[in-house]
Amino acid sequence: MDRRNLETVGVRRTGWAALDRDPQQDTVEFICPHCGARDKKNARRERALYHFTDGFLQDLQGEVTQCHACKQYLRVVPIVMLHDQDETRRFEAVFSDEQLVTPH
Ligand SMILES: [Zn+2]
Repeated sequence: MDRRNLETVGVRRTGWAALDRDPQQDTVEFICPHCGARDKKNARRERALYHFTDGFLQDLQGEVTQCHACKQYLRVVPIVMLHDQDETRRFEAVFSDEQLVTPH
């Protein structure tokens, strides 16, 4: 039961941080640690399970998913909830090597 999946940071954008996409979608975006593909999954965990950690609402348990490109399993953790452009900018500063939120 101790088999660990590779982990990668995920972003769950809501509200003002998600204006560039369908507001009906509730997805977690991530980059596959196996093949480097950008991917996303439907967010499954309740927002109440997110807790403030290091200035962000985060799900520190994360979600296990399968990459659509290489079919390998990974754990998306932590999942960081971003509500607006300000939080998005802060996320980019803290997780600068993740390249998850590309500015336009
Ligand atoms: Zn992959």
